[in-house]
Amino acid sequence: MTTTTVRDVSVFGDAMAYFEEAASLLNLELGIRALLTHPSRQIIFAIPFQRDNGSLEVYTGYRVQYNFARGPAKGGIRYHPGVTLDEVTALAFWMTWKCAVVDLPFGGAKGGVTCDPGNLSPGELERITRRYAAELVEVVGPDKDVPAPDVGTTPQIMAWFMDTYSMHMRTSVPGVVTGKPVEIGGSAGRVEATGRGVSLLAFEEMRHLGIAPGDARVVVQGFGNVGSVAAKMFAAGGCKVIGISDISGGYVNRNGIDVAGATAYAQEHHSLKGYRGGEHVSNEDLLEVECDVLVPAALEKVLTVENAERIRAKLIVEAANGPTTPEADHILQRKGTVIVPDIIGNAGGVIVSYFEWVQDRQGYFWRESEVNERLEDLLLTNFRRVREVALARKVPYRTAAYVVAIERVVRSMKMRGVYA
Ligand code: GLU
Repeated sequence: MTTTTVRDVSVFGDAMAYFEEAASLLNLELGIRALLTHPSRQIIFAIPFQRDNGSLEVYTGYRVQYNFARGPAKGGIRYHPGVTLDEVTALAFWMTWKCAVVDLPFGGAKGGVTCDPGNLSPGELERITRRYAAELVEVVGPDKDVPAPDVGTTPQIMAWFMDTYSMHMRTSVPGVVTGKPVEIGGSAGRVEATGRGVSLLAFEEMRHLGIAPGDARVVVQGFGNVGSVAAKMFAAGGCKVIGISDISGGYVNRNGIDVAGATAYAQEHHSLKGYRGGEHVSNEDLLEVECDVLVPAALEKVLTVENAERIRAKLIVEAANGPTTPEADHILQRKGTVIVPDIIGNAGGVIVSYFEWVQDRQGYFWRESEVNERLEDLLLTNFRRVREVALARKVPYRTAAYVVAIERVVRSMKMRGVYA
């Protein structure tokens, strides 16, 4: 007998369940629905590369360009052992709605390489990245598809991507990727943008729910770029961060974790392993700690049928893409948990990616304060629009966010017409 675990179920299948719910509310015609549930283009290719010891290995690379109705495709590149075509397709699908719900002139895409970047040297990562970029030369570009960092990729990796593309074009093209180092056309504020957006939305929703920051206990699952920055901003805003985690497990301190100390520890040791500023618990137990705000900031499918009943947060702000399965979402809704969904919860990153793309095209760069101000304005204006739709239609924020996003994409598709 085979048992199916939550992880085995298609990520794209789960993602579509959310889409279908909103599409039914909108009475979308079947043809439009069919178009929106098919990726425009899925590319799979081999990435041969040389290990430092001279041996040759081959990895698999992906790029899925899901939709172009509102502009060039946009979305990150993930380097992780769990990368599959199914996952990259789901992530590209989510990028389509994420860009639309915050009103960016982009479609959706995502890419990835199935590899473990923790076990690759900088030289090996550079060779993989250059080959990955070279394979995509014809289909990416500032007006075609603009990659960015995601789990396992960094500003340095974006720099190698930009350089490889520019070498092939025989001209410098900084706008081909975002999330670059500021010295070569990156934007001030991009590294912190996703975590900043998560905390802006959390504070906005806490105000709405009547939770004073000084009384708020926050748990952040995942301590990478997004989770650590969000934790820092929660602490700076007066909240008590009582739990953090990474692959080494969870760390709980009901008096409040010293976030700056934990960040310095994680940087020095490349993980929180051995961190003593909190009681060590399992990753599963961390999610079930009683708190006011829970921020899943790692990978998909962490809130599932298996633990949803035991989640004791009042508010969940999804910093990861797809952390909640549709079944868990229904359980949490029934329990009255408020969820700020991923497609807007973590949109701060792609908003500042958009600003980076604009700045690269202008060749004129903004102060960090200007970037942060524009980020707050775009994110909160669109979140309030989502809230209006949620109240008017009496649906959760997730459904409302899909409704806003789908309406925008469909309007653009209908204006352009379908070249059939
Ligand atoms: N990988 C990030 C995301 O999932 C950023 C994408 C981007 O900036 O294009 O939203």
